[in-house]
Amino acid sequence: MKKREIINKVRGKRAIDGAGVKLVRVLGNETIESYDPFLMLDSFDSTDPNDYTAGFPMHPHRGIETVTYLIDGRIDHKDSLGNSGVIGGGECQWMTAGSGIMHEEMPKSSEKMLGFQLWLNLPAKEKMCEPAYHALERDSIPKVSDNGAEVAVISGNYKDMQGFEPEHIKATILDVNLPKGQKFDLEMKGDTVFVFLISGDAVIGEERIAEKTAVLFGEGDFISVTAPEDGSSRFIYYCADTLKESVAWGGPIVMNTQDELREAFRELRNGTFIKTK
Ligand code: MN
Repeated sequence: MKKREIINKVRGKRAIDGAGVKLVRVLGNETIESYDPFLMLDSFDSTDPNDYTAGFPMHPHRGIETVTYLIDGRIDHKDSLGNSGVIGGGECQWMTAGSGIMHEEMPKSSEKMLGFQLWLNLPAKEKMCEPAYHALERDSIPKVSDNGAEVAVISGNYKDMQGFEPEHIKATILDVNLPKGQKFDLEMKGDTVFVFLISGDAVIGEERIAEKTAVLFGEGDFISVTAPEDGSSRFIYYCADTLKESVAWGGPIVMNTQDELREAFRELRNGTFIKTK
C-alpha cells in the first residue's frame, strides 16, 4: 500500500464571472493537464449577497459537465431542456451540457453561500451527446461515518454507499468532514486524485495546508489527511481517470479542436446551437 504524496498545490485567483459574481477560480486554463479531466473549479464563500446575487444569466455550454454543490446557500436555475429548480444546502446539480444547453444560474441572498462549481470534461466521442440534467437532492446523497469522518457520497461508490453514477467520466466526488485532530486515510484507484479544502486547514504529510487550497496527489493507493488540533477540516475529494485529449477552451464551451470551437460560436450566432428541445 503506497501513500499518494502531494505533487501540486493551487490556491486560485479571485475572479468575477457571470453578471458580476465574485468567486475564486481554483482550477482553470493553467491546470488543464495536471488535473485532467477536471477543467475548472470555482469556489464560492461569502456572507455578503452583493458578491453573488447578480448571478449567471442565460448562457450556453457545450462539451462539458457542470457539477454544482452547495453546503450553504441557494441557487435558482432553469435551462433550455425545460428544467427548473433550486439547489439548496447539501444538494448538487449534475448537468451534462453535451451538444449544447442554455441555462441560467442565479444565487439567491442567504446568510452564507458556500460551495463550488466543477467543470468535468467530456471525452471527444461524447462531447456532442444529448444534454442531461440531474438534481441530486439532499436525501439522495448518502452519508457514511467512516474512521471518525463523516463522508457524503456525491458521486461514485465509497464504502458500499452509492452516490450519483456519472454516465460519462466516472468521477468520484466526496464531501469529507473531519473533527479536529482526526486522521483519515482514503483508498481509491484512479489517475487523478485531488482534494479541495473547502472549510478549515488540513495537515497532509508534515505540511499544514491553508483552507481553499486544491492539493493534487501523485500515484499510489491512498491519501492521508489530518484535521489540525485547533480546528475541524472539511474537504471535497475528487477522483477520476485522465482523458489525455486535446482541449480547445472558449469561455463556456470546451471542445477538442479550434475548428469545433469556431463551429460552436458560429451556431450560437445563427441560432442552431441547441440540438434538442
Ligand atoms: Mn453555467
